[in-house]
Amino acid sequence: MVGRICKVDYLPIFLFVCVIENFMLTLQPIIIKFQNNNSMEKTYKMCQSCGMPLKKDTHGGGTETDGVTKSNRYCSYCYENGQFKQQCTAKEMQDFCIKMMNEKMKMPKWVAKFLCHNIPKLERWKDNK
Ligand SMILES: [Zn+2]
Repeated sequence: MVGRICKVDYLPIFLFVCVIENFMLTLQPIIIKFQNNNSMEKTYKMCQSCGMPLKKDTHGGGTETDGVTKSNRYCSYCYENGQFKQQCTAKEMQDFCIKMMNEKMKMPKWVAKFLCHNIPKLERWKDNK
């Protein structure tokens, strides 16, 4: 008698678990797809250290530790053999880029400043400002 009552009582829970399980099964491919999207290596249009468009890099990007694999994040001016060429802060990098654009490319300072204003927001400086 007691057992029967228990079975009846557990039925809604059992059904509920089944529904959840089915729900999870239908969701799984979506979740996996979402996770894959997140873990996938991002490809960047700009160097994530100095902001230079990677397309303009004549060397096609910096190199990883093996010296051959191209980095999809940093340009050849910032990154070589898996290391940054300059050890500096975002502000120093910004000042350096403004100076280079101003002196070497004869760009007005305000244009250079405008082009460099996003540097502190790039990936390299996210943890280290
Ligand atoms: Zn760079």
